[in-house]
Amino acid sequence: MPTHTYQKREPELQIDLSAIAANFHHLRSLVGSNTEVAAVVKSDAYGLGMNLVVPVLLEAGCHTFFVANLREAMQIRTKLASSVQINILAGIEDNALDVYRTYRLAPVCGRLEDAILAAEKLPELVLGLETGFSRFGLTFAQVRAFKHRVRREPDLAISHLACADDPIDTTNRLQRDRFVAMCQIVNPRRRSLAASAAVWLGQNYHFNLVRAGSALFGLNNAGVEPNPLRPVVQLFARIAEVRAVHCGEAVGYAASFRATRSMRIGIVALGYAQGLPWSAGNVIAVLIGAHKAPVVGRVAMEYVAVDLSDVPAKLCTEGQLVEFIGPHLPIETMAKVAHTIPQELLIRLGANCRPTLRQPCHDAPWILAATGG
Ligand SMILES: *Cc1c(COP(=O)(O)O)cnc(C)c1O
Repeated sequence: MPTHTYQKREPELQIDLSAIAANFHHLRSLVGSNTEVAAVVKSDAYGLGMNLVVPVLLEAGCHTFFVANLREAMQIRTKLASSVQINILAGIEDNALDVYRTYRLAPVCGRLEDAILAAEKLPELVLGLETGFSRFGLTFAQVRAFKHRVRREPDLAISHLACADDPIDTTNRLQRDRFVAMCQIVNPRRRSLAASAAVWLGQNYHFNLVRAGSALFGLNNAGVEPNPLRPVVQLFARIAEVRAVHCGEAVGYAASFRATRSMRIGIVALGYAQGLPWSAGNVIAVLIGAHKAPVVGRVAMEYVAVDLSDVPAKLCTEGQLVEFIGPHLPIETMAKVAHTIPQELLIRLGANCRPTLRQPCHDAPWILAATGG
């Protein structure tokens, strides 16, 4: 028996800021100099923290951001030069026209009445067009009605593809054709159709601006092989206890796993409260050093069990680091076997583990303040 008392240690979600910058530069090289790469940092930068991510992107040369709503816009506006463009995907909220004007924020107007209001009252006119996603956006009829009522040409028109991660899906072409036809009616100064995956659909989809979220954070939605993006997060947790389990004994809730021999089991301090999917129980594997260890039993709120039987004894100690996501364990793989998508996984982990930086960052002190150093 160990003599010291174990203290549960927090899992570590390590963020590589230089990888975010590298991914931004890579996207730029793919779209060429006639197309701008804008960063989508909604949902607190996909869970990783706008405070960490936005300054890195600024430094990399990004000057257009998309956020989810007014609250997120205000969170970054005061820290950014007024020349930096901030677009709000939620459109006009609470009739906050004065706020948009004062802080130079551009709501993406996807309703006719909002579009008309923005055209009359705001310095920046951004339209959302509905081309086949059935979420927000002006329909063809509304685009015509807008044209009829408003003389002003939009600064930007955007639409969103439903199937961009599948290059042979004919929906892409259909949405693109509709987008082009709608833009011909309202004649926006700039056009944007592509999110991350559509960058790989080719130049026909790039227009003036691509809106990259996932790809900046290393998620390879388009499934490009080999993955040209640098992974941004790694996830580690620590062994809280090592136990011997006899053949036939049950491990965890619902006895969903039974030892098939005498086994060494590690109880690892990471559960669904920290964002590990419950559906990862009995299906994912982790790494301890270079040794693979399968997760056994269900994921609990704060813990999960792994089979250490084939891991050298010297690594089977309390406090030992266990890798869940890393160079040999891509987040895409965990998402797939756990029947979710990498974006959901990233957001849950980011919101529930305290992100830490993989390397110190010297030139943006407010970043360090935001994470406590
Ligand atoms: C989330 C979002 C994006 C970014 O999507 P990714 O696939 O993560 O790059 C772009 N445009 C709109 C309208 C979005 O809602």
